[in-house]
This record gives sequence, structure tokens and C-alpha cells, in this order.
Amino acid sequence: MMAALPARRRERTEIQRFAGGYALKNSRRLVNFSDNDYLGLSFHPKLVEAVRKAVQQYGAGAGASRLVTGNHPLYAELEKALAAFKGAEDALVFGSGFLMNLGVVNGLINKDDIILADKLIHASLVDAIKLSGVKFQRFHHNDMAHLEALLQKISETSTTTQVVAQKIYILTEGVFSMDGDTAPLSEMLVLAEKYNAAVIMDDAHGFGVLGQGRGSAAAQNVALHPNLIKTGTFSKACGSYGGYICATKNQIEHLVNNARSLIYTTGLPPAVIAANIAALEMLESEPELAEKVMSHAAFFCELLNLPAPQSAIIPVIIGGDAEALAASQELEDAGFLVSAIRPPTVPRGTSRLRITMSAVHSRSDIEKLAILVRKWVS
Ligand SMILES: *Cc1c(COP(=O)(O)O)cnc(C)c1O
Repeated sequence: MMAALPARRRERTEIQRFAGGYALKNSRRLVNFSDNDYLGLSFHPKLVEAVRKAVQQYGAGAGASRLVTGNHPLYAELEKALAAFKGAEDALVFGSGFLMNLGVVNGLINKDDIILADKLIHASLVDAIKLSGVKFQRFHHNDMAHLEALLQKISETSTTTQVVAQKIYILTEGVFSMDGDTAPLSEMLVLAEKYNAAVIMDDAHGFGVLGQGRGSAAAQNVALHPNLIKTGTFSKACGSYGGYICATKNQIEHLVNNARSLIYTTGLPPAVIAANIAALEMLESEPELAEKVMSHAAFFCELLNLPAPQSAIIPVIIGGDAEALAASQELEDAGFLVSAIRPPTVPRGTSRLRITMSAVHSRSDIEKLAILVRKWVS
């Protein structure tokens, strides 16, 4: 006999995505307000063509780690273009955002260092911290007074020798994935400078969307700040796959020699790298795409009298798990795919609909969704 299913059992529901922001689920076509393909680039003809050409020329896989024979010349092209686009000295591309966070935290941060992390950072950063064994403390979400109190305490209690050996790393996100709000980067960097700390900002959801596509740091005019390390992924607005870090040449060199999640994993398929290059070209040549998704988000929030959106992610907090699932099901019955997000991804009692906008959505679908969602917006 099977035990009763836990209330939060997770399933692998089959979903097929299509161009134009649609998805097929249980044989029904739904308008997809659920994924992170904010610009619709995963189906853009330029990316699809770049992939097709690269597969024909270079095959399906990389064959080995980047440090053996998997370092296809396209990597250098991508990393050079990314560093230039982000205003960084150098860049390094990992297999995914998850692998990047494992590699950056474990490769850059030493045992004697200290990590201060926002309460809401992504699970991959939490796992990376745990794996590193580095001492860490959490600060209340986006609470700069709390962050400063922690920094102050460290500076007061550290001995002179400790201060010399130990570095402080502040971990945050540009845009928080389940709340859609942004981090106060300028304030954070003032504190970082004052206490001689570095900020590592994971911009998975800001890259491609904010700052005309250049990301959260550009949007807040701090892209060139020397205490800021910018990380992110090509799997969201870029519509493809692969994580990245933008940092100094020294830091990148150090990671190439120390990041185990770069060294001991196979390089990306060349076609994926080609897609990323094409995505970057799109961000550079068509900044209107980023503006469009943000204007869609603003339109949706206006219809619902919600505060102006800070990103393409708009959470509608429902509260209970069952209620959030029921709301998601009701929207699905009406032809919209909107996922319910439950604990432990979000805190207890804050189960929610996570609505994400894409540049490929139509205004009429956004309006229809707003009408359906209105009853859950207090
Ligand atoms: C999605 C996400 C990741 C993981 O990126 P993948 O490329 O999907 O592995 C890392 N950090 C944050 C903040 C994310 O939202």
C-alpha cells in the first residue's frame, strides 16, 4: 500500500512550449505566464538558426571538460562579448547558473572568509555556501540597516590578523526570483566600500530585462563599481543555457584553477554557446525587447492597481498551499499557465501565483489574465 501523499509532493508534469508564449499541457493550448523566457528568445529565429548552423558544423556535444578538449573557440567569443556588454574586465561561462554559483562561491571564497547573505537568495547559492563550509550569516531581505549591523559586529570582533586574512562577501540577487523586487545595490556598495567587502550579485532575472538588457547593475548605475562581482545565467531572458560571472582577470584566472564545477564537468555543447552569442547580439541590437517586457509588466500592474513592477516577475500572494494550487488550476481552466509556488521555495503562508511577463505576450492576453487574477489581489 502507498503511504498518503505529502501535501507538497512535486511532479514532473509534461509541458511543451511553443513560439509566441504558448504551452501545451494535457493536450490544451495555454498562454504561458509561467516561465523565465522574458524576451521570447528561446524561439527567436536568430537563435534557432545559430543553433542549427552550429550543430551541423560542430556536432551535438562538447566531448570533454573545458580544461581538456571541450573549450570550443566560441567560448572566447562569447566571454569577450559578455565582458564588453557588462562593462567587466573579463568573464567566465559555466555549464549552468547552478554550476556557476557552486563554482564562484567555492572557488573565490576561502575558509577564513565570511559570507553575509540576503535571506531570500536562490537555493543554488544556499547549497554553494553549505558546500563551501565558510562561516555565513543571513541578513533580513534587502535590509541595509541589518546588513550594516552585521558588518559592524564583524569589524568590532575581528582581531587585526583576522582582518588582514579574512574577506567579507555579501551575496544578493539583482532581482529576487520569487518576489520580483530588486536589491538596493547603491546602498549595499556604499557599505561594501566602508567595510572592505565584495558584493556578489546573481542577476539571473535582471540580465536581459533591466537596464535596457544590461542588467540590474546597469539599471542602478553601478555596473563599473570595483566592489561588485556580477553573475547570472543565459537560461532566462537569453532563452538558452549556461551560467556566467563577470569579474577581474585575476578572479577569472583563479576560478579557472579552482572552480570544481567548471573543471570537472563537460563543456557546453557548442550550439548552446552559439545561441548565447546570438542572444547577446539581440540584447545589444534590440534594447526595445527589454523595454517591451517592462511595459507589459507595468500595464498588468496598472490594471490591478498593484505597485509599479521592478522586474518582469509579479507575485500574487495567496497564502495557503491548497488555495494557491486551486488558483493556478482555475487559471489553467481559463487557458492560462501560471504556476503556484509553495514552501520551501517561499516562506510558509506565502504561497503564491508567480506571474511572469514576456515581450511576446499580447496586450489582450495580459488584460484577460488581469481580469481573472483581480479577485486574489487585495
Ligand atoms: C534560475 C536561477 C539560477 C540557476 O540558473 P540555471 O542556469 O537555471 O541553473 C541561479 N540563481 C538564480 C537567482 C536563479 O533564479
